[in-house]
Amino acid sequence: MSLTISINTRARSEMIDITPKVEEELNRSGLKDGVCFLFVPHTTAGITINENADPSVVADIQAMFDKLVPWEGPYGHLEGNSAAHIKSSLIGNSLIVLVESGHLKLGTWQGIFFCEFDGPRSRKVHIKFH
Ligand code: ZN
Repeated sequence: MSLTISINTRARSEMIDITPKVEEELNRSGLKDGVCFLFVPHTTAGITINENADPSVVADIQAMFDKLVPWEGPYGHLEGNSAAHIKSSLIGNSLIVLVESGHLKLGTWQGIFFCEFDGPRSRKVHIKFH
């Protein structure tokens, strides 16, 4: 069985540290050693691991992403959110994190970030502990 966490994003572009939520679900699952699979079922959002100690890191990532993939095209996709689709593909929509001693085996400065590229929206992350 997989489980799902819900996230309400508040801006067009946002990186939300979901590490505490994932740890909470891990605790509830009772898994001590194994793997945590995370999957984002959206085409204009993604998931990544990066530094969660200094908030300017994710601010820099977002700012540079906006430069790399500007909101205004030229793009063909009529919905007008091609930039968000492209960012989603660049960042990816799944992660695997090892679980040891009942905790996510992340590096000291690492956090799991849900990445919104076309918010605000109601979003989901599917999680499977195994
Ligand atoms: Zn679209």
